[in-house]
Amino acid sequence: MSRRLLLLAVLVLLAAAPLLLPDFYVTLMNYIGLASIVTLGLVLLTGVGGLTSFGQAAFVGISAYTSAVLTTRYGISPWLSLPACLLLTLPISLFLGFITLRLSGHYLPLGTIAWGIAIYFLFGNLEILGKYSGIAEIPRLSIFGWSLGGGRQMYYLIWAVTLVALLAAGNLLDSRVGRAIRALKGRTTMAQSFGVDTNRLKIILFVYAALLAAMSGWLYAHFLRYVNPSPFSLNASIEYLFMAVIGGSTQVWGAIIGATLLTMLKEWLKDILPRITDQSGNYEIVVFGLLIVLMLHRTREGLVPYFSALLPAEKPVLARPTTPPLPARVQPQRGEPLLEVEGATKRFGALAAVSSLSFEVRAGEVLGLIGPNGAGKSTVFNLMTGVLAANEGEIRFRGERIENLSARAIARRGMARTFQHVNIVPSMTVLENAAFGAHLRGHAGVAAASLRLDRPEEALLRHEAAQQLDRVGLGKNLFDQASTLPLGSQRMLEVARALCADPMLLLLDEPAAGLRYLEKQALADLVRRLREEGVSVLLVEHDMEFVMGLVDRIVVMNFGEKLAEGSPREIQNNPAVVEAYLGSVA
Ligand code: ADP
Ligand code: MG
Repeated sequence: MSRRLLLLAVLVLLAAAPLLLPDFYVTLMNYIGLASIVTLGLVLLTGVGGLTSFGQAAFVGISAYTSAVLTTRYGISPWLSLPACLLLTLPISLFLGFITLRLSGHYLPLGTIAWGIAIYFLFGNLEILGKYSGIAEIPRLSIFGWSLGGGRQMYYLIWAVTLVALLAAGNLLDSRVGRAIRALKGRTTMAQSFGVDTNRLKIILFVYAALLAAMSGWLYAHFLRYVNPSPFSLNASIEYLFMAVIGGSTQVWGAIIGATLLTMLKEWLKDILPRITDQSGNYEIVVFGLLIVLMLHRTREGLVPYFSALLPAEKPVLARPTTPPLPARVQPQRGEPLLEVEGATKRFGALAAVSSLSFEVRAGEVLGLIGPNGAGKSTVFNLMTGVLAANEGEIRFRGERIENLSARAIARRGMARTFQHVNIVPSMTVLENAAFGAHLRGHAGVAAASLRLDRPEEALLRHEAAQQLDRVGLGKNLFDQASTLPLGSQRMLEVARALCADPMLLLLDEPAAGLRYLEKQALADLVRRLREEGVSVLLVEHDMEFVMGLVDRIVVMNFGEKLAEGSPREIQNNPAVVEAYLGSVA
């Protein structure tokens, strides 16, 4: 059975459910749908983006209360209150995102807890919101005079919203922005080096999740037709987070699995425990907590992988571009100074990792940067690419000073790099990882991606990625998960990713480490071809044989300083170099 058929079967079942199920279960399904929408936001924000929020229920509440007040007090139609709910959530989430997302580590969840609680108490204390007794008699929704008063009618609206939200979120993750979102968790340096504005993206993601919560809140208010503070408390936020984690926080449909499982479990425990224990009291919460801890132990990835295994595999295809190819950069005139480093110094505490270092890379050359371990080579890369700021000195790229620019701005100017310690997104495919490099060559944003309007551009980016992967010998691995590649291939994937940026200057940090002999030969050939095409390369490498046969000039570093500079022959015969470096290796 294909995925399409399975999807169709699920849709038919969902459509038929209210006709077949008793009232109680229809209501339960409505709660599951409402929770799925909120959880979906958390899957994106927390599961994929790595930003933990304990404040999601507050956004549900803000929207539910807004609609309650507008419709009961001011007699505004619920359909008009919906845009009002979303428009109010937008600035609030922007503001909260702005002040909390800058916090890192455990300060971020603590920050969200703080405002989550604050908003909850606001609900309970404001006169206009009916304090702890809430607001009742919220009007029902109706479409063209047809009332959506009953649970069965609301069911279709709630699940339509759920499915559309699911589809849009799935589209989003499978796009240019989606790749950037998937790199937020622990790969921000890499993402910035390819031009992603990670701080902005975090806020966008936060607002996206808040708007989903707001959508759920609006539906909630007109489904229950009564709001009070308790469903919007910290407890509720925690439950949403559990749903996201248990369902499986890397795939969008994990949201539905998590919401279904937890909602059912809670109901079932509420039902069965009093019979077993013969006592009333909220024992279900205790059992519930224990079960969650158990599940977290068993399934760190959530339940999605189990369900994924049941699904029939889908054969991925590479869409053919329908538009003209991506424009390529005009490479600078051969021999013109491309990158100039002048008196650069970087200190880590008392240690000068780079000290008054000066050298230049000319357009069209392959420059080798060598030196023993700890000489400061990778630090030089980080200074040049804006990952680290220099304490002193100037760095110019095509005459423009760049030492104070961000990694993003530098990437835009035409530098692309690989990382000494492989820095790919392991859960993405080889193709997606390579396409990441072309981030700045595309423009489609969140809206275009969610609505699938980005396909022509996306086909171009992927086509470019496939071509560069072919060049580095990974043409057969396009759809493999990147983490399954051997280390040497992962390095080559990094080279392909950097090439996707169409760089003027390519920075390779120990690309040959872990490669086999033939792979090294292929890499050397590739670098030679790039040089012919006018691309300039700065190569950090340990393998002397590899470097000597490939580069035009060499700069030798030792203890952060420049020890020597010259042609490979000059360097090989330089006594200081032989003593400091080559001698110790040979
Ligand atoms: P290389 O790439 O030549 O092996 P690095 O540039 O990685 O050398 O490191 C140069 C020196 O700076 C080393 O002594 C290293 O321990 C130190 N160093 C590098 N990065 C940091 C950092 N982020 N914080 C503190 N020390 C660092
Ligand atoms: Mg290094």
